[in-house]
Amino acid sequence: MPELRYDILSGTYTIIASERAKRPNDFRAAQELENAVPELDPKCPFCPGNERMTPPEIFALRQDGPNNGPNWTIRVVPNKFPALTSVKDVGSDFSSSLGAAEHPLSVDDSSMYWEAQAVGAHEVVIESTRHNGTLGTYSTDEMVTVLNTLKQRYLVLYDSKHVKYVQIFRNWGPLGGASLTHPHFQIIGLPFVPPEVFAEVSRYNEYNGKTGRCIMCDYIERETEKDLRIAAKSREFIALCPFASRYSFETLIVPRNHSVNFSDMNSEELRALARDMTEVFHGYEELFSSLSYNLVIHSLPPGQRSRKQANYHWHIHVYPRLNVEAGLEKGAGVWINPTPPELAALQFDEKGRV
Ligand SMILES: [Zn+2]
Ligand SMILES: [Zn+2]
Ligand SMILES: [Zn+2]
Repeated sequence: MPELRYDILSGTYTIIASERAKRPNDFRAAQELENAVPELDPKCPFCPGNERMTPPEIFALRQDGPNNGPNWTIRVVPNKFPALTSVKDVGSDFSSSLGAAEHPLSVDDSSMYWEAQAVGAHEVVIESTRHNGTLGTYSTDEMVTVLNTLKQRYLVLYDSKHVKYVQIFRNWGPLGGASLTHPHFQIIGLPFVPPEVFAEVSRYNEYNGKTGRCIMCDYIERETEKDLRIAAKSREFIALCPFASRYSFETLIVPRNHSVNFSDMNSEELRALARDMTEVFHGYEELFSSLSYNLVIHSLPPGQRSRKQANYHWHIHVYPRLNVEAGLEKGAGVWINPTPPELAALQFDEKGRV
């Protein structure tokens, strides 16, 4: 019988359609089998040798040679088609920090038609020289470099007084919205705290107000005891298939020790995350020949540490694009997931673990 589940972390509902339980092989249509991707694509703007095809780099690690030349291991460049205008292009008199959730409702035009310049930052982290690189095939050292670079840029973007929230994400595959095949992360600096994060913070505050505890700490403790939905686990991190997963094979990667911010990781924790993320993605790549997904890191601004926000607990969501957002999802915000998370965790356990 289908089961209705409520996600305590987000306040959303999912119908787990257990009788239509789907395993990786049942998703053939969603796994568009691509032709073998080459290690180097002469036409790709992110491949070594094509550095002139991107805007000038913001940051790079390279053995030798000039900026914007070859011999790099990782590069950060502005997005060629940015969603937000760079702060330095608009001058210092710009000011806007209102988030959608903070808007007072009124009949005034200023409320009905609120708008502002989309000012912030939009960067691309070209994470590998290999056109066919994947998160599941990187060595731990390579993944450490990727995470370190993300952390560094994340901190730099928060230095701007116009940036109120930095969203790190990775779109992968055609269904994940990736316009370029070459592996890359994106970082967007927004001039407000976005609704998704605002809603999470409210739930953390509500739970903390009632219990004095962190909702995520309690959730992962309970999940560790139950041991039904664990995709991977180490001393430092846990990867869960959430109880009310909205997406088939969704995972949630969380530090096991309470930690408010992604950038608070020390070098040992960062290395552990590198190792564990590679393991989770190696699992995905074993299970699916080609998987589109979105990865997002949710973390509070490092500077905003009021007592109320101190109970936030940073985490990574991985949303595979296997099931489609259709009428019920769009119309009611209620999700149908044909893969019980217990089954997904079992598949990671059987095939994914290295
Ligand atoms: Zn490439
Ligand atoms: Zn916590
Ligand atoms: Zn989240």
